[in-house]
Amino acid sequence: MSNVVGMNEFVGMANGDLHCWLCQKPVSTRALFCHHCGTIQAVRDIDHFARLGLERRIDLDTDALEKQYAALARTLDPQRFVIRGMGERTHAAKQLEALNEAYETLRDPLRRGRYWLQINAQIFDETAAANPLVHELRAALTDAAEPGQCDRVAQRAGQALQQGVMALMQALRSQDWRQANQILAELDGVEGILNEVRGCRVKLAPGNDKGTPEEVLMT
Ligand SMILES: [Zn+2]
Repeated sequence: MSNVVGMNEFVGMANGDLHCWLCQKPVSTRALFCHHCGTIQAVRDIDHFARLGLERRIDLDTDALEKQYAALARTLDPQRFVIRGMGERTHAAKQLEALNEAYETLRDPLRRGRYWLQINAQIFDETAAANPLVHELRAALTDAAEPGQCDRVAQRAGQALQQGVMALMQALRSQDWRQANQILAELDGVEGILNEVRGCRVKLAPGNDKGTPEEVLMT
């Protein structure tokens, strides 16, 4: 009976064009399960918000996102389909994959921002903006001789990322698409720096470095 939760939530108005692959009766676009025979349906081409049963909004209710995801992931748990036929197992696995993709995209503000531009058809080919901060931080990483220097770069990049995400949300809310594209291009650079910090830390890991973080802080 546990599938019923998913069925009730996701059986909307039947769409005349869509039919259950098993019983051939009409099903709605958002239906995970057929209203008539209870069979899991194929993945439909719906947006990430609809897939998670959420309202399409840039300011996402993250608690609702987590709750919806947890409930749907439980519904699509492969364990529930092990005794089903190959067709149902395959559809369940693909549904879970689509659900995970939707969830991963919406929970990350940067990915959500980029996706928002995409569904609003407002992606511009923004040439990687010459963000002075990114250049400065990259130079600092290249010159870093102590782990503490990597940490300081990471801290500044982290702050820049936080501020950038807020500015991005503001731009998306006010539909300043040009600005949003620009901020995203800059944040790509900042994210790149955060990835490079990992390499910097490995390079200067204890055993390779000549100073402790405490010594660095005193300089
Ligand atoms: Zn059916």
